[in-house]
Amino acid sequence: MIESRCGLLCSRCKFREQIPCAGCTEMKKPFWGDSCPVKDCCEKRGQVYCGPCSEFPCALLHQFAYDPEQGDNGERIVQCKKWCGKE
Ligand code: SF4
Ligand code: SF4
Repeated sequence: MIESRCGLLCSRCKFREQIPCAGCTEMKKPFWGDSCPVKDCCEKRGQVYCGPCSEFPCALLHQFAYDPEQGDNGERIVQCKKWCGKE
């Protein structure tokens, strides 16, 4: 049910089959770089995803969600809330 640390829906990612990628919660490191600060932060805090974190939605997650090129206009924050049953 939970598809990523940040709220992104890996099942909808167009690169998943092409790479192939195991998905955010299964992979050791992202295919797009050496590490993802959101994934790392979440895992260091022992969180399955950002939603239940006491800092949610923190500045880092916000920055990722609203990045002009790679962001999704806050959709992943909304998805985290849905997974939490908050929305
Ligand atoms: S941005 Fe980071 S936390 Fe979000 S799906 Fe990609 S690797 Fe996972
Ligand atoms: S909400 Fe922010 S502080 Fe909490 S786990 Fe996610 S990235 Fe880390």
